[in-house]
Amino acid sequence: MSERLNGIRWVWFDIDDTLWDFSHNSATALCSIYDDFGLSSRFASAEEWISQYESINLPLWDLYNRGKITKEFLQAERFYRTFVNAGFSGAELDRLDGMNEIYLDRLASQSVAVEGSHATLAELKRRGLHTGVVSNGFSGVQERKLKNAGLKVDVVVLSDEIDINKPDRRLFDYALQKSGATAEESLMVGDNPLTDIAGAIKAGWRSILYKPTAPAAAEGIIRSLPELLDIL
Ligand SMILES: [Mg+2]
Repeated sequence: MSERLNGIRWVWFDIDDTLWDFSHNSATALCSIYDDFGLSSRFASAEEWISQYESINLPLWDLYNRGKITKEFLQAERFYRTFVNAGFSGAELDRLDGMNEIYLDRLASQSVAVEGSHATLAELKRRGLHTGVVSNGFSGVQERKLKNAGLKVDVVVLSDEIDINKPDRRLFDYALQKSGATAEESLMVGDNPLTDIAGAIKAGWRSILYKPTAPAAAEGIIRSLPELLDIL
Protein backbone atom coordinates (compact mmCIF):
# COMPACT_ATOMS: atom_id res chain seq x y z
CA MET A 1 0.00 0.00 0.00
CA SER A 2 1.56 3.27 -0.97
CA GLU A 3 -1.27 5.69 -1.73
CA ARG A 4 -1.89 8.01 1.21
CA LEU A 5 -5.27 8.63 2.79
CA ASN A 6 -6.10 12.31 3.12
CA GLY A 7 -8.11 13.98 5.83
CA ILE A 8 -8.08 11.18 8.41
CA ARG A 9 -8.07 12.48 11.98
CA TRP A 10 -9.52 9.46 13.81
CA VAL A 11 -8.08 5.96 13.49
CA TRP A 12 -10.41 3.30 14.89
CA PHE A 13 -9.34 -0.28 15.51
CA ASP A 14 -11.06 -3.57 16.09
CA ILE A 15 -9.70 -5.21 19.28
CA ASP A 16 -9.57 -8.99 18.83
CA ASP A 17 -6.83 -10.13 16.45
CA THR A 18 -6.23 -6.54 15.35
CA LEU A 19 -4.71 -4.84 18.43
CA TRP A 20 -4.94 -7.70 20.94
CA ASP A 21 -3.65 -11.16 20.02
CA PHE A 22 -6.89 -13.02 20.63
CA SER A 23 -5.80 -16.25 18.91
CA HIS A 24 -2.71 -16.60 21.06
CA ASN A 25 -4.35 -15.42 24.29
CA SER A 26 -7.46 -17.56 23.86
CA ALA A 27 -5.36 -20.67 23.23
CA THR A 28 -3.42 -19.95 26.44
CA ALA A 29 -6.66 -19.60 28.44
CA LEU A 30 -8.18 -22.75 26.90
CA CYS A 31 -5.00 -24.78 27.55
CA SER A 32 -5.04 -23.78 31.22
CA ILE A 33 -8.68 -24.92 31.45
CA TYR A 34 -7.76 -28.23 29.79
CA ASP A 35 -5.12 -28.83 32.45
CA ASP A 36 -7.04 -27.59 35.49
CA PHE A 37 -10.38 -29.29 34.79
CA GLY A 38 -9.17 -32.73 33.76
CA LEU A 39 -10.45 -32.42 30.20
CA SER A 40 -7.97 -35.05 29.01
CA SER A 41 -10.60 -37.63 30.05
CA ARG A 42 -12.64 -36.72 26.94
CA PHE A 43 -10.28 -34.84 24.62
CA ALA A 44 -7.14 -36.55 23.28
CA SER A 45 -5.08 -33.36 23.54
CA ALA A 46 -5.38 -29.66 24.33
CA GLU A 47 -5.31 -29.00 20.56
CA GLU A 48 -8.28 -31.34 20.11
CA TRP A 49 -10.17 -29.56 22.91
CA ILE A 50 -9.51 -26.15 21.35
CA SER A 51 -10.50 -27.33 17.90
CA GLN A 52 -13.77 -28.88 19.16
CA TYR A 53 -14.60 -25.73 21.08
CA GLU A 54 -13.85 -23.47 18.10
CA SER A 55 -15.99 -25.60 15.79
CA ILE A 56 -18.94 -24.70 18.03
CA ASN A 57 -17.93 -21.20 19.10
CA LEU A 58 -17.21 -19.74 15.65
CA PRO A 59 -20.62 -20.50 14.07
CA LEU A 60 -22.29 -19.10 17.23
CA TRP A 61 -20.19 -15.91 16.91
CA ASP A 62 -21.26 -15.63 13.30
CA LEU A 63 -24.92 -15.78 14.39
CA TYR A 64 -24.23 -13.27 17.17
CA ASN A 65 -22.49 -10.84 14.80
CA ARG A 66 -25.55 -11.05 12.54
CA GLY A 67 -27.90 -10.37 15.45
CA LYS A 68 -29.51 -13.81 15.21
CA ILE A 69 -28.74 -14.86 18.79
CA THR A 70 -28.13 -12.96 22.01
CA LYS A 71 -24.90 -12.63 23.91
CA GLU A 72 -26.51 -14.64 26.72
CA PHE A 73 -27.32 -17.52 24.37
CA LEU A 74 -23.81 -17.52 22.92
CA GLN A 75 -22.22 -17.51 26.37
CA ALA A 76 -24.52 -20.19 27.77
CA GLU A 77 -24.22 -22.58 24.85
CA ARG A 78 -20.67 -22.56 23.56
CA PHE A 79 -19.01 -24.55 26.34
CA TYR A 80 -22.09 -26.60 27.24
CA ARG A 81 -22.44 -27.89 23.66
CA THR A 82 -18.72 -28.66 23.44
CA PHE A 83 -18.86 -30.72 26.64
CA VAL A 84 -22.08 -32.56 25.73
CA ASN A 85 -20.73 -33.39 22.25
CA ALA A 86 -17.60 -34.80 23.89
CA GLY A 87 -19.70 -37.13 26.03
CA PHE A 88 -19.77 -35.33 29.40
CA SER A 89 -23.00 -35.89 31.34
CA GLY A 90 -24.46 -35.94 34.85
CA ALA A 91 -22.22 -34.87 37.71
CA GLU A 92 -19.23 -34.63 35.38
CA LEU A 93 -21.08 -32.06 33.30
CA ASP A 94 -22.34 -30.19 36.39
CA ARG A 95 -18.74 -29.80 37.56
CA LEU A 96 -18.03 -27.80 34.39
CA ASP A 97 -20.95 -25.43 34.89
CA GLY A 98 -19.90 -21.77 34.76
CA MET A 99 -17.04 -22.47 32.35
CA ASN A 100 -17.87 -19.41 30.25
CA GLU A 101 -17.15 -17.08 33.19
CA ILE A 102 -13.96 -18.97 34.02
CA TYR A 103 -12.82 -18.73 30.40
CA LEU A 104 -13.61 -15.01 30.07
CA ASP A 105 -11.76 -14.30 33.31
CA ARG A 106 -8.68 -16.24 32.21
CA LEU A 107 -8.88 -14.74 28.72
CA ALA A 108 -9.04 -11.15 29.96
CA SER A 109 -6.00 -11.77 32.17
CA GLN A 110 -3.80 -12.44 29.13
CA SER A 111 -1.63 -9.63 27.85
CA VAL A 112 -0.13 -10.46 24.46
CA ALA A 113 -0.74 -7.64 21.96
CA VAL A 114 -0.49 -7.90 18.18
CA GLU A 115 3.01 -7.15 17.01
CA GLY A 116 3.53 -3.48 16.27
CA SER A 117 0.34 -2.32 18.00
CA HIS A 118 1.99 -0.31 20.80
CA ALA A 119 4.43 1.39 18.45
CA THR A 120 1.69 2.18 15.92
CA LEU A 121 -0.67 3.67 18.53
CA ALA A 122 2.19 5.74 19.99
CA GLU A 123 3.20 7.08 16.59
CA LEU A 124 -0.41 7.96 15.65
CA LYS A 125 -0.68 9.91 18.89
CA ARG A 126 2.64 11.65 18.26
CA ARG A 127 1.27 12.75 14.89
CA GLY A 128 -1.75 14.28 16.62
CA LEU A 129 -4.28 11.72 15.39
CA HIS A 130 -7.06 10.45 17.67
CA THR A 131 -7.49 6.73 18.25
CA GLY A 132 -10.39 4.52 19.28
CA VAL A 133 -11.67 0.97 19.28
CA VAL A 134 -14.99 -0.38 17.98
CA SER A 135 -15.56 -3.92 19.21
CA ASN A 136 -18.29 -6.55 19.34
CA GLY A 137 -16.64 -8.08 22.43
CA PHE A 138 -18.14 -7.99 25.90
CA SER A 139 -17.88 -5.00 28.22
CA GLY A 140 -15.96 -5.82 31.38
CA VAL A 141 -13.79 -8.18 29.32
CA GLN A 142 -12.63 -5.87 26.51
CA GLU A 143 -11.50 -3.08 28.85
CA ARG A 144 -9.42 -5.59 30.86
CA LYS A 145 -7.80 -6.93 27.69
CA LEU A 146 -6.72 -3.43 26.66
CA LYS A 147 -5.47 -2.56 30.12
CA ASN A 148 -3.53 -5.81 30.65
CA ALA A 149 -1.85 -5.46 27.28
CA GLY A 150 -1.04 -1.78 27.87
CA LEU A 151 -3.05 -0.69 24.80
CA LYS A 152 -4.16 2.92 25.18
CA VAL A 153 -6.73 4.62 22.93
CA ASP A 154 -8.77 7.80 23.33
CA VAL A 155 -12.26 6.27 23.03
CA VAL A 156 -13.55 2.74 23.64
CA VAL A 157 -16.81 1.80 21.86
CA LEU A 158 -18.35 -1.60 22.60
CA SER A 159 -21.43 -3.08 20.96
CA ASP A 160 -22.64 -3.99 24.46
CA GLU A 161 -23.19 -0.30 25.22
CA ILE A 162 -26.09 -0.06 22.77
CA ASP A 163 -26.77 -3.75 22.00
CA ILE A 164 -25.93 -3.28 18.33
CA ASN A 165 -23.07 -5.18 16.68
CA LYS A 166 -20.74 -4.46 13.79
CA PRO A 167 -21.46 -4.51 10.84
CA ASP A 168 -24.64 -2.55 11.73
CA ARG A 169 -23.82 1.05 10.86
CA ARG A 170 -25.60 2.29 13.97
CA LEU A 171 -22.63 1.17 16.07
CA PHE A 172 -20.30 3.24 13.87
CA ASP A 173 -22.69 6.20 14.07
CA TYR A 174 -22.71 5.80 17.84
CA ALA A 175 -18.89 5.87 17.87
CA LEU A 176 -19.00 9.25 16.08
CA GLN A 177 -21.56 10.56 18.54
CA LYS A 178 -19.49 9.39 21.52
CA SER A 179 -16.23 10.86 20.22
CA GLY A 180 -17.32 13.94 18.32
CA ALA A 181 -15.57 12.61 15.19
CA THR A 182 -17.08 12.70 11.70
CA ALA A 183 -17.44 9.83 9.23
CA GLU A 184 -15.24 11.63 6.66
CA GLU A 185 -12.30 11.87 9.04
CA SER A 186 -12.66 8.31 10.41
CA LEU A 187 -10.68 5.26 9.34
CA MET A 188 -11.56 1.74 10.55
CA VAL A 189 -8.80 -0.87 10.77
CA GLY A 190 -9.83 -4.46 11.42
CA ASP A 191 -9.23 -8.09 10.54
CA ASN A 192 -12.82 -9.06 9.72
CA PRO A 193 -14.12 -8.04 6.27
CA LEU A 194 -17.73 -8.95 7.17
CA THR A 195 -17.96 -6.90 10.38
CA ASP A 196 -15.17 -4.29 10.54
CA ILE A 197 -14.89 -3.40 6.87
CA ALA A 198 -18.48 -3.90 5.67
CA GLY A 199 -19.78 -1.88 8.63
CA ALA A 200 -17.33 0.97 8.11
CA ILE A 201 -18.24 1.19 4.43
CA LYS A 202 -21.97 1.32 5.25
CA ALA A 203 -21.29 4.15 7.72
CA GLY A 204 -19.30 6.17 5.16
CA TRP A 205 -15.91 5.68 6.85
CA ARG A 206 -12.66 4.81 5.16
CA SER A 207 -11.42 1.32 5.96
CA ILE A 208 -8.28 -0.81 5.88
CA LEU A 209 -8.28 -4.58 6.27
CA TYR A 210 -5.54 -5.92 8.54
CA LYS A 211 -4.50 -9.25 7.08
CA PRO A 212 -1.03 -10.58 7.91
CA THR A 213 -1.25 -13.23 5.16
CA ALA A 214 -2.26 -10.87 2.34
CA PRO A 215 -0.06 -10.57 -0.75
CA ALA A 216 2.27 -7.58 -0.73
CA ALA A 217 0.90 -4.26 -2.00
CA ALA A 218 -2.73 -5.42 -2.09
CA GLU A 219 -4.92 -2.32 -2.17
CA GLY A 220 -6.84 -1.46 0.99
CA ILE A 221 -4.99 -4.10 3.00
CA ILE A 222 -2.09 -3.93 5.45
CA ARG A 223 -0.05 -6.94 6.54
CA SER A 224 1.31 -5.34 9.71
CA LEU A 225 0.00 -2.46 11.84
CA PRO A 226 3.04 -0.19 11.29
CA GLU A 227 2.23 -0.23 7.55
CA LEU A 228 -0.60 2.13 8.51
CA LEU A 229 1.99 4.79 9.24
CA ASP A 230 3.05 4.80 5.60
CA ILE A 231 -0.41 5.75 4.37
CA LEU A 232 -1.47 8.29 7.01
MG1 LIG B 1 -11.19 -9.05 15.08
